[in-house]
Amino acid sequence: MFALSQFPLPYAQDALAPYISEQTLHYHHGAHVATYIKNLNDLIAGTKYADMPLIEIIRESKKNNDKKIFNNAAQVYNHDFFFHCMTPDAKKMRIPVKISEAFGGEDAFHQEFRTAALSVFGSGWTWLVTDGAEYKIITTANAETPVADGMRPLLTLDVWEHAYYLDYQNRRGEFIDAFLDNLVNWDFVAENMKE
Ligand code: MN
Repeated sequence: MFALSQFPLPYAQDALAPYISEQTLHYHHGAHVATYIKNLNDLIAGTKYADMPLIEIIRESKKNNDKKIFNNAAQVYNHDFFFHCMTPDAKKMRIPVKISEAFGGEDAFHQEFRTAALSVFGSGWTWLVTDGAEYKIITTANAETPVADGMRPLLTLDVWEHAYYLDYQNRRGEFIDAFLDNLVNWDFVAENMKE
């Protein structure tokens, strides 16, 4: 039977320190994500979803209002994407010119992304997406994901408390700045812009 397996982190658990600690990645990737994968495999076993690729599970479960399957499938996708949005080599990379231009400069992009990420009430995600030809910064609540709605994600930040609480406690703004200034894998973002 088809089953999703845990995807590996694209770097060591201690590679993003001091911005994100080894302990945070240990729990975030090794416990939270592992649980979403186990739940999803248990939920889809023996159902019409069992042999679908992950994106199709997300879209079909949303359409059919199968909320538990949607939540776990979307969280698996969102986390795999999020972990690939970061790299210990971020400081060697530059924001792609098209993105910088779309938002009126690198600082303006930073401010808009930061404001959006701070505005998420409770658990959710902040995304840079393309919606048709347009670049947009959007937020989603809980497990909601732009791939369910036909947008193409370029970059995301997890702003669930489990993503930053051990390192930043209630200081979400510091976490957002640390991510934007020190962790974004702009080469991955640039890859996502192609197609
Ligand atoms: Mn998370």
